[in-house]
Amino acid sequence: MWSRWKLLDLGRRFVNYKPWRWRSSGACDRALEYKVGDKIHGFTIDQITPIPDLFLVAMKLSHDSTGAKYFHVAREDANNLFSVQFRTTPMDSSGVPHVLEHTVLCGSKKYPCRDPFFKMLNRSLATFMNAFTASDYTLYPFSTQNSKDFQNLLSVYLDAVFFPCLRELDFWQEGWRLEHENPSDPQSRLVFKGVVFNEMKGAFTDNERIFSQSLQNQLLPDHTYSVVSGGSPLSIPDLSWEQLKQFHATHYHPSNARFFTYGNLPLEQHLRQIQEEALNKFQRTEPNTAVPAQKLWDTPREYHVTCGPDKFATDPTKQTTIGVSFLLPDITDIFESFTLSLLSSLLIDGPNSPFYKALIESGLGTDFSPDVGYNGHTREAFFSVGLQGISDTHIEMVKEIINKTIDEIIEKGFEDNRVEALLQKIEIQMKHQSTSFGLALSSYIASCWNHEGDPIELLNLGGQVTRFRKCLKENPKFLQEKVKQYFKNNQHRLTLSMNPDEKYYEKQAQMESEKLKEKIDCLSMEDKRHIYEKGLELQASQSKPQDATCLPALKVSDIEPNLPFTELETTLAAGEIPVQYCAQPTNGVVYFRAFSSLNTLPEELRPYVPLFCSVLTKMGCGIYDYREQAQQIELKTGGMSVSPHVIPDDSDLDIYEQGVLFSSLCLDRNLSDMMHLWSEIFNNPHFEDEEHFKVLVKMSAQELSNGIANSGHLYASIRASRTLTPAGDLLETFSGMDQVRLMKRVAEMPDIKSVLRKLPRIKKYLLNCDNMRCSVNATPQQMSQAGKEVEIFLKNLGRSKKERKFVRPHVIEKPIDCKSIDGNLVNHPTRKLVTDPTFKPCQMKTHFVLPFPVNYVGEGVRTVPYSHPDYASLRILARLMTAKFLHTEIREKGGAYGGGAKLGTNGIFTFYSYRDPNSVQTLQSFEKAVSWAKSGKFTEADIEEAKLSVFSAVDAPIAPSDKGMDHFLYGLSNEMKQGHREKLFGVSREQLINVSNKYLRSGQSTRGLAILGPDNSNIEKDPSWVIR
Ligand SMILES: [Zn+2]
Repeated sequence: MWSRWKLLDLGRRFVNYKPWRWRSSGACDRALEYKVGDKIHGFTIDQITPIPDLFLVAMKLSHDSTGAKYFHVAREDANNLFSVQFRTTPMDSSGVPHVLEHTVLCGSKKYPCRDPFFKMLNRSLATFMNAFTASDYTLYPFSTQNSKDFQNLLSVYLDAVFFPCLRELDFWQEGWRLEHENPSDPQSRLVFKGVVFNEMKGAFTDNERIFSQSLQNQLLPDHTYSVVSGGSPLSIPDLSWEQLKQFHATHYHPSNARFFTYGNLPLEQHLRQIQEEALNKFQRTEPNTAVPAQKLWDTPREYHVTCGPDKFATDPTKQTTIGVSFLLPDITDIFESFTLSLLSSLLIDGPNSPFYKALIESGLGTDFSPDVGYNGHTREAFFSVGLQGISDTHIEMVKEIINKTIDEIIEKGFEDNRVEALLQKIEIQMKHQSTSFGLALSSYIASCWNHEGDPIELLNLGGQVTRFRKCLKENPKFLQEKVKQYFKNNQHRLTLSMNPDEKYYEKQAQMESEKLKEKIDCLSMEDKRHIYEKGLELQASQSKPQDATCLPALKVSDIEPNLPFTELETTLAAGEIPVQYCAQPTNGVVYFRAFSSLNTLPEELRPYVPLFCSVLTKMGCGIYDYREQAQQIELKTGGMSVSPHVIPDDSDLDIYEQGVLFSSLCLDRNLSDMMHLWSEIFNNPHFEDEEHFKVLVKMSAQELSNGIANSGHLYASIRASRTLTPAGDLLETFSGMDQVRLMKRVAEMPDIKSVLRKLPRIKKYLLNCDNMRCSVNATPQQMSQAGKEVEIFLKNLGRSKKERKFVRPHVIEKPIDCKSIDGNLVNHPTRKLVTDPTFKPCQMKTHFVLPFPVNYVGEGVRTVPYSHPDYASLRILARLMTAKFLHTEIREKGGAYGGGAKLGTNGIFTFYSYRDPNSVQTLQSFEKAVSWAKSGKFTEADIEEAKLSVFSAVDAPIAPSDKGMDHFLYGLSNEMKQGHREKLFGVSREQLINVSNKYLRSGQSTRGLAILGPDNSNIEKDPSWVIR
């Protein structure tokens, strides 16, 4: 994987924290018993600092003989994390760090089998395993809740990074190679293949990616940031195997390494294992990998790039992107970075920010330019602002607006309550708990630590907030002066513009074929024979039965047989509305949700429900206009959002529930304010401001269209399932390509009134308590107060004056198991599901022609619902097929970035591929996978592995905010989940073969197919395909 980290950007997303109570923290107490100077297994402790705000103790250590750096965070969290990070600073765009990241995972000294990394996915209960190549470091993280598993994974990770085999065949498979299109036919033409080669071709179909990449390359042009660390597709074929090995020798050395561990497992054990299995075999070296400071410019610069045409652009004449970026100080200056990241939030976040008002509301473009705001993943940070979706003729105007806005801010400053809202947000972010705190920390510290910044100082957010408040108090113009210094008076600024070129992909293909010709022209007959033989050798080695017995593994018997039950209590409020209460250690945060049914909504309004949801909390309500409402939401809550849901029934594929979920969170002390906001949104939402509505529509249309390159496989899967169940049809309407197209049409309308007028109509059917249920997750102490607030909210809600008819008359009621405090219920509450007796599943094949050089393929097969006895077998089968067959066929042999099979809770068995150079051939691989499964060519050990892998998902940690959601949304009780668990344990070889025959054999069930990708002559010739 290749990524440019941008996590824990405080202003813009949730920070993921999972604190427990400080007092009961055994892991922290143990950490505090160590002393600075203590020597443990070759390491010396340099610093121990408790950070009570985050309920952790941070420790810095260094390795005596190699100088390796080590950072440990002790915290009462069982989801332990390890990561090792190397500073990788390439000086060309051959993608050497990225290819290396892939190849070290292909086999190592102690674990010489092919692909130990992917094999461990099936031999472990890891909650996360991955590897990332950033611009200037490569990171290998994993997390698990099981201590034996931690040791196993640590052993595999250490051996992979320090003692990889780096075989030539691995380089060919993962990096790039010349190979015959059909490897067994020496007459077929030679082409470029390789996983990273295709991955990067796919990555640059994303125009936002092209923009961000150029931005970094041009703004920091003097050293490693001027190249593409992931590899530019045309430069990857310049990389040699020798260069790869050399890069490993110089960069993957302990003296250039940073180790990070997190969680409640004892530190000593980690240190011993790392020392014994890796570090004691090395001597100190001088890594020379530091990035020098960027030389500052005397005058601003401009640059222009081209990209592919956006097929879904809301207005084809407005496809230009422009951004102005300013270089900021070194990210190791932690307080300055903190200040500038807050300042960036004030400048661009939400409808009250000056750049939103000046740029977004100018109507010139569709949305901000990519990477807008503070970017702290390079040694010097930068701030960027601009617009996308503008007309070429408006470039100068946008630049002027940006300059003028900066001048205005220097003069006027910011409103006090916006600064206060931002600081409150940091408080709620520190308290809100997620299940991946360790991973979030690891990425949060990675960039700063990479350049010798202090990770402990970085984690001391409370201290930074205090200092920030002090600066503001002492100097009311503190922020304005920063704007003057870093924006107005900064000569190191880049104006980057990007335009689509209709022939972009054609030109790229042309350059690729020139490169190919150049490579082929210099081949001798001998070379060609060698290429043919190597191709066959690679194919043979990929097809060989694989022996993974050298790898450590957990066993199914290591898995907890019983599910920990979540205690829930559901009572009736306002007379008849069920409210589910789930008491959890939420650390002073309340989570409130409501689900409202769409059963009475007229058919023609349904496609507009997603739009309704996305604007409902952004248009104003009651006495608040949309700006004041945004301000209230920021001040009083951690977020309020609304989303459409299609919920499959657990026992019948033709039945589903349709509705809208309202979600929110706030600090205990703000609950009544938040519920008041919900009240106003439900009772008095505003739907009048046409101009503001237009802005919101353009932004969502742009977001949907930008998402296709990254989520193409999801769109293909949703489309493939559309004709298989009635729920599938609705899902396509809400979240599929149909929705993308609808939004494009709406955004292009010259007069949007007709759409705006639909919103109050949808409101009438949806925003009342006719068919609603609620849930609260909070601390036990907060529950009775929360109950009172919910009661007040519900009593204030309107009811329909007349009894509304269900649009689909076939309603199936399912009881909600309600515990009443006094034990007797008068009206038993129900969930009201629907069915459509006229629906018949049918086959459908759709090809969406997109101007991408890669495909996303999806095939759906209708099988059985969750509580059916065969569901567990199909779930294990999907995992088994992915690990033991599809991964080899689609990724290793086919060169796609990913592919596999999965079983959804909607009972659809889906085959998919991601960034795939093939399309029709991949469909054949899906068929072959079924034959493989039917013939039973798998072992008991394979089944055991598939089970482990499924359980690592089943037993993934659930955050306190999300406990009980299976029950609230899907109606799944603890007992039903335990029943499914037992069936998973019991799945046998016979059952797996049996379900392959019964459901997946061609001609046996109804299936749907969809491909997103370039023109395809095979598909065009086949009349069974619908081309769109
Ligand atoms: Zn990759």
